[in-house]
Amino acid sequence: MIKFSLQCSNGHGFEAWFPGNDSFADQKARGFVTCPHCNDASVEKTIMAPNVQGGKGRGSKDDPAPNLPAGNASTAPMPAPPQPPVQPPVQTAKPPESWGPEHVAAARQFLHAVRATVQKTHEDVGDKFADEARAIHTGKKPDRGIHGKASKEQIDALLDDGIEVMPLPDPKLDG
Ligand SMILES: [Zn+2]
Repeated sequence: MIKFSLQCSNGHGFEAWFPGNDSFADQKARGFVTCPHCNDASVEKTIMAPNVQGGKGRGSKDDPAPNLPAGNASTAPMPAPPQPPVQPPVQTAKPPESWGPEHVAAARQFLHAVRATVQKTHEDVGDKFADEARAIHTGKKPDRGIHGKASKEQIDALLDDGIEVMPLPDPKLDG
Protein backbone atom coordinates (compact mmCIF):
# COMPACT_ATOMS: atom_id res chain seq x y z
CA MET A 1 0.00 0.00 0.00
CA ILE A 2 1.19 3.50 -0.81
CA LYS A 3 -0.22 6.59 0.77
CA PHE A 4 -0.61 9.51 -1.61
CA SER A 5 -1.10 13.07 -0.58
CA LEU A 6 -3.62 14.40 -3.02
CA GLN A 7 -5.06 17.75 -3.87
CA CYS A 8 -8.22 18.50 -5.79
CA SER A 9 -8.62 21.30 -8.32
CA ASN A 10 -10.26 23.37 -5.59
CA GLY A 11 -7.14 23.19 -3.46
CA HIS A 12 -8.37 20.69 -0.86
CA GLY A 13 -5.60 18.48 0.43
CA PHE A 14 -6.32 14.92 1.52
CA GLU A 15 -4.67 11.51 1.71
CA ALA A 16 -5.62 8.18 0.23
CA TRP A 17 -4.15 4.69 0.18
CA PHE A 18 -3.60 2.72 -3.00
CA PRO A 19 -2.15 -0.71 -3.68
CA GLY A 20 0.35 0.93 -6.03
CA ASN A 21 1.06 3.83 -8.33
CA ASP A 22 -0.64 2.08 -11.27
CA SER A 23 -3.73 1.52 -9.18
CA PHE A 24 -3.91 5.19 -8.35
CA ALA A 25 -3.57 6.14 -12.02
CA ASP A 26 -6.23 3.60 -13.00
CA GLN A 27 -8.72 4.64 -10.37
CA LYS A 28 -8.06 8.31 -11.10
CA ALA A 29 -8.71 7.68 -14.83
CA ARG A 30 -12.00 6.02 -13.96
CA GLY A 31 -12.98 8.98 -11.79
CA PHE A 32 -12.97 6.88 -8.64
CA VAL A 33 -10.57 9.15 -6.86
CA THR A 34 -12.57 12.06 -5.57
CA CYS A 35 -12.04 14.80 -3.07
CA PRO A 36 -13.76 13.99 0.26
CA HIS A 37 -14.49 17.66 0.71
CA CYS A 38 -16.10 18.61 -2.60
CA ASN A 39 -16.28 15.33 -4.50
CA ASP A 40 -14.08 16.76 -7.23
CA ALA A 41 -12.63 13.97 -9.35
CA SER A 42 -9.83 16.15 -10.68
CA VAL A 43 -7.17 15.27 -8.17
CA GLU A 44 -3.40 15.34 -8.44
CA LYS A 45 -0.65 13.87 -6.35
CA THR A 46 1.21 16.40 -4.27
CA ILE A 47 3.98 14.98 -2.12
CA MET A 48 4.06 11.26 -1.61
CA ALA A 49 4.01 10.43 2.06
CA PRO A 50 6.91 8.28 3.18
CA ASN A 51 4.68 5.54 4.58
CA VAL A 52 5.20 2.54 2.34
CA GLN A 53 4.19 -0.98 3.33
CA GLY A 54 5.45 -4.03 1.49
CA GLY A 55 7.13 -1.95 -1.14
CA LYS A 56 10.02 -3.32 -3.11
CA GLY A 57 13.23 -1.82 -4.32
CA ARG A 58 13.65 0.28 -1.24
CA GLY A 59 16.79 0.55 0.83
CA SER A 60 19.14 0.62 -2.13
CA LYS A 61 22.59 1.34 -0.86
CA ASP A 62 23.12 3.71 -3.77
CA ASP A 63 20.40 5.83 -2.28
CA PRO A 64 21.86 7.94 0.50
CA ALA A 65 19.28 8.68 3.14
CA PRO A 66 21.05 10.87 5.69
CA ASN A 67 17.76 11.97 7.26
CA LEU A 68 16.71 8.46 8.24
CA PRO A 69 17.31 7.37 11.81
CA ALA A 70 20.58 5.60 12.40
CA GLY A 71 20.68 1.84 12.54
CA ASN A 72 21.94 0.86 9.13
CA ALA A 73 25.63 1.49 8.64
CA SER A 74 25.28 1.74 4.88
CA THR A 75 22.92 4.68 5.23
CA ALA A 76 24.83 6.45 8.00
CA PRO A 77 25.62 10.02 6.99
CA MET A 78 29.19 10.67 6.02
CA PRO A 79 31.15 12.96 8.33
CA ALA A 80 31.14 16.47 7.06
CA PRO A 81 34.33 17.50 5.23
CA PRO A 82 36.56 19.86 7.19
CA GLN A 83 35.60 23.43 6.66
CA PRO A 84 38.25 25.89 5.48
CA PRO A 85 39.25 28.28 8.24
CA VAL A 86 37.17 31.38 8.30
CA GLN A 87 39.13 34.40 7.23
CA PRO A 88 39.22 37.01 9.95
CA PRO A 89 37.51 40.19 8.92
CA VAL A 90 39.81 42.84 7.60
CA GLN A 91 40.43 45.48 10.19
CA THR A 92 39.52 48.89 8.99
CA ALA A 93 40.22 52.12 10.75
CA LYS A 94 36.85 53.42 9.69
CA PRO A 95 33.82 51.97 11.44
CA PRO A 96 31.18 50.38 9.22
CA GLU A 97 28.59 52.76 7.93
CA SER A 98 25.94 50.88 9.82
CA TRP A 99 27.45 52.11 13.08
CA GLY A 100 25.28 54.53 14.90
CA PRO A 101 26.38 57.15 17.39
CA GLU A 102 25.89 54.68 20.23
CA HIS A 103 28.40 52.27 18.64
CA VAL A 104 30.95 55.01 18.18
CA ALA A 105 30.46 56.04 21.79
CA ALA A 106 30.89 52.44 22.94
CA ALA A 107 34.03 52.03 20.85
CA ARG A 108 35.45 55.25 22.22
CA GLN A 109 34.67 54.09 25.74
CA PHE A 110 36.49 50.84 25.03
CA LEU A 111 39.52 52.67 23.66
CA HIS A 112 39.53 54.87 26.74
CA ALA A 113 39.56 51.74 28.89
CA VAL A 114 42.44 50.23 26.88
CA ARG A 115 44.42 53.40 27.15
CA ALA A 116 43.73 53.77 30.86
CA THR A 117 44.74 50.15 31.49
CA VAL A 118 48.00 50.51 29.57
CA GLN A 119 48.81 53.75 31.33
CA LYS A 120 48.16 52.06 34.67
CA THR A 121 50.14 48.89 34.01
CA HIS A 122 52.91 50.20 31.76
CA GLU A 123 55.68 52.52 32.77
CA ASP A 124 55.54 55.93 31.15
CA VAL A 125 58.98 56.57 29.66
CA GLY A 126 57.92 59.62 27.73
CA ASP A 127 60.20 60.66 24.89
CA LYS A 128 62.67 57.88 25.72
CA PHE A 129 60.24 55.24 24.45
CA ALA A 130 62.34 54.16 21.47
CA ASP A 131 65.53 53.92 23.54
CA GLU A 132 63.80 52.07 26.35
CA ALA A 133 62.07 49.64 24.00
CA ARG A 134 65.39 48.83 22.32
CA ALA A 135 67.13 48.50 25.69
CA ILE A 136 64.47 46.06 26.89
CA HIS A 137 64.70 44.16 23.62
CA THR A 138 68.48 43.80 23.92
CA GLY A 139 68.28 42.90 27.60
CA LYS A 140 69.97 46.04 28.86
CA LYS A 141 66.88 46.98 30.76
CA PRO A 142 64.49 44.74 32.73
CA ASP A 143 61.62 43.36 30.69
CA ARG A 144 58.55 45.37 31.44
CA GLY A 145 55.70 47.06 29.71
CA ILE A 146 56.33 50.64 28.79
CA HIS A 147 54.52 53.33 26.93
CA GLY A 148 55.62 56.67 25.71
CA LYS A 149 56.14 58.81 22.68
CA ALA A 150 58.02 57.94 19.53
CA SER A 151 58.30 59.43 16.10
CA LYS A 152 57.26 57.49 13.04
CA GLU A 153 60.95 57.07 12.13
CA GLN A 154 61.72 55.66 15.57
CA ILE A 155 58.81 53.25 15.33
CA ASP A 156 59.90 52.12 11.88
CA ALA A 157 63.42 51.53 13.21
CA LEU A 158 62.06 49.50 16.13
CA LEU A 159 59.91 47.39 13.81
CA ASP A 160 62.89 46.87 11.50
CA ASP A 161 64.80 45.47 14.48
CA GLY A 162 61.95 43.10 15.27
CA ILE A 163 60.81 45.02 18.32
CA GLU A 164 57.07 44.88 18.70
CA VAL A 165 55.38 48.15 19.33
CA MET A 166 51.81 49.11 18.87
CA PRO A 167 50.12 52.47 18.85
CA LEU A 168 48.08 53.27 21.88
CA PRO A 169 44.57 54.16 20.83
CA ASP A 170 43.76 57.78 21.41
CA PRO A 171 39.99 58.16 21.47
CA LYS A 172 40.33 61.92 21.36
CA LEU A 173 42.05 61.92 18.01
CA ASP A 174 39.27 61.42 15.52
CA GLY A 175 35.56 61.52 15.57
ZN1 LIG B 1 -11.98 19.39 -3.03
